[in-house]
Amino acid sequence: MSGGPVSGAAAGPRMDDQVPQAPAAEDWRRAVAAIESLPATARILLICHINPDADALGSMLGLGLGLHRLGYRGVQATFPGPFVVPDPLADLPGLQLLIASDQVDPEPELVISFDAASIGRLGELAGHLERAPTSLVLDHHASSTWFGQINLVDPAAAATAVLVEGLLSRLGVPLDVQIAECLYVALATDTGSFRFDATTPGVHEFAARLLACGIPVGEISRRLFDTRPYGAVLLYGEVLCRAALEPTAARGRGLIWSYATLADLERHGQRSQVLEPLMDSVRCAAEADVACLVKQVRPAEWAVSLRSKGGVDVSRVATALGGGGHRSAAGFTGYGSVDDVVAALRERLDELSY
Ligand code: MN
Repeated sequence: MSGGPVSGAAAGPRMDDQVPQAPAAEDWRRAVAAIESLPATARILLICHINPDADALGSMLGLGLGLHRLGYRGVQATFPGPFVVPDPLADLPGLQLLIASDQVDPEPELVISFDAASIGRLGELAGHLERAPTSLVLDHHASSTWFGQINLVDPAAAATAVLVEGLLSRLGVPLDVQIAECLYVALATDTGSFRFDATTPGVHEFAARLLACGIPVGEISRRLFDTRPYGAVLLYGEVLCRAALEPTAARGRGLIWSYATLADLERHGQRSQVLEPLMDSVRCAAEADVACLVKQVRPAEWAVSLRSKGGVDVSRVATALGGGGHRSAAGFTGYGSVDDVVAALRERLDELSY
């Protein structure tokens, strides 16, 4: 099996093992057979990554609804860690399939993973996938470790939702307005509202098929991108005020970084998920190719998000620090103080920027 993560910190040109490769016809055939061979009563467990974003949840619920349309009644969907659905996704169709991770059937016949590059991203649910008679991984991360028995992994896909549509169409499930909303939030989010390089003609054609189902796109976009509590607005102001610019970092490509502590969140009555869109404001600084947002998870533990304007492959940096992601968007978990985390990042950036 190819497609493992890029390991080590060796400088040099990008490795060929990151060249995007779409799933082979055989992979699709095996994925369809894994589902179609199951009776309608089969226990099917859908899992997406910890702190699910719109692609993870939308892809998972979109396929879950599709399986329902096919008559499968034993479908459960879940994700690890704190069982909190981000506010902008609180009205997503298919949420009735969601069950807390400690409540799901421990012995499903089929486990399907969504948008997780490695099994570690499934947290306490990793064992469910490992023990299952059949496991299927749907993902689009270049750093994917292909940890399923069957892997539908396409690093060229703009979102995991693209693979979900591929699977639904092969299963003969037509898109409907509910499935389309799930897949649209996934696609719109992972393409940065159709602004990122991954926004191919095929992405717009996919979006057109979703819009043709009659989804309320203006309302969905407002909910997804343009609605925040007042406390979040104030919190954003504070975090942006402390952003630091380091023009010589990453071998002169430049780094901008900021951080948010648990105390910041508490002061403004906010949950950590409200910080997600803040990166878009940090990364717009023209002087820095790399942007970093360090979010406190526990006293000495930080969720670190990285973005690149294209000069630095931040997935290599994140992988070297124990995380993963895409060339222009990646993340890892940092330990110690904020300064410790940023110091480790600076060092890797100097090694891996070229
Ligand atoms: Mn994704």
